[in-house]
Amino acid sequence: MINFIDLAAQQKRIRAGVERRFSAILDHGQYIMGPEVTELEKGLQDFCGAKHALSCSNGTDALMLALMALELRAGDAVICPSFTFAATAEVVPCMGGVPVFVDVDPVTFNMDVASLKRGIALAREKGLNPRGVIAVDLFGLAADYDPISAVAKENGMWLISDSAQGFGALYKGRRTGSIGDIATTSFFPAKPLGCYGDGGAVFCDDDKMIEALKSFRIHGMGSDKYDNVRIGMNGRLDSIQAAVLLEKLALYPEEIDLRQAVAARYADALKGVVETPFIADGYTSVWAQYTVKLAEGTDRAAVQAHMREAGVPTMVYYPIPLHQQTAYKHFPTESGRLPVTESLAARVLSLPMHPYLGESDKTRVVDALKAALR
Ligand SMILES: *Cc1c(COP(=O)(O)O)cnc(C)c1O
Repeated sequence: MINFIDLAAQQKRIRAGVERRFSAILDHGQYIMGPEVTELEKGLQDFCGAKHALSCSNGTDALMLALMALELRAGDAVICPSFTFAATAEVVPCMGGVPVFVDVDPVTFNMDVASLKRGIALAREKGLNPRGVIAVDLFGLAADYDPISAVAKENGMWLISDSAQGFGALYKGRRTGSIGDIATTSFFPAKPLGCYGDGGAVFCDDDKMIEALKSFRIHGMGSDKYDNVRIGMNGRLDSIQAAVLLEKLALYPEEIDLRQAVAARYADALKGVVETPFIADGYTSVWAQYTVKLAEGTDRAAVQAHMREAGVPTMVYYPIPLHQQTAYKHFPTESGRLPVTESLAARVLSLPMHPYLGESDKTRVVDALKAALR
């Protein structure tokens, strides 16, 4: 069986460095907030161009910290795409807000600006206060931030960039992480930049905002550690995870390039077979997933079974859109239904994607998909 994501191949490259750093941690003993954490935060901000980076416990807590710093209140509406991982929207009701689900673009899988505008109007109709937008860089491709942030600004709303899947992707000369009032990412092992456990980060340019984020990350601490001035959380990253990330961050630019080569090969070999991702000028995806669209009416489960038999694993991200999930379906949905999201949920199929996918494996994936569709 081909690996859907091959962390072992990457581990071979970084193992000596990781072991050196682990050994240093065992010697200095600062398991929490050790020097590796500070070094990582500096490296992350240098890499993406944000003025401030703050590591944290995971990508969900990163979103939660962002909502705390942006002072989400009960009755506030936050506009989110429905075609995303649950964590994007989950944090909003956790903080007393109401997610309003909008549709995505059929080509980019990312937030549709016209639907966003209608979602804001819907929030007002429902007597909610539209406070913010969470745009997602789904599958590694940046959302279309210029029009999205223009709409947010016009409506006095903030913008969070959920870049859990897209950290480091390029959007018109900028790297994600540096876009939005606050950007967040996840270092879950399967993300393009992952650690060996849970981890995440928040990014912003505002000096006051980063002070608030730092405080919320450690129980809302004030200048006196035992006089907490906010209701926060325990959102710290371990030194050990920071050590892994430091070794991986050094390889990340090269890995992003290697991912381009895999994507290019798939796009070329699958032309006319399935709808492959289209990346517009000005964008570079970090390819968290390589997701194709099968023709309407294709028996996707049969295609997956066929490919599995040929030793090729596939995944469906995401089979059930958020606005149709049990815990979320009572929240407002723009126009009541989201035709693009619903169609994509039925048609998408993600193929093995990682920087170390060899030539013969790529051929095997392509051949298996072609055979499964015959
Ligand atoms: C993975 C993911 C998250 C959550 O990250 P965790 O580190 O697993 O908490 C949030 N949003 C999106 C879009 C994700 O893919």
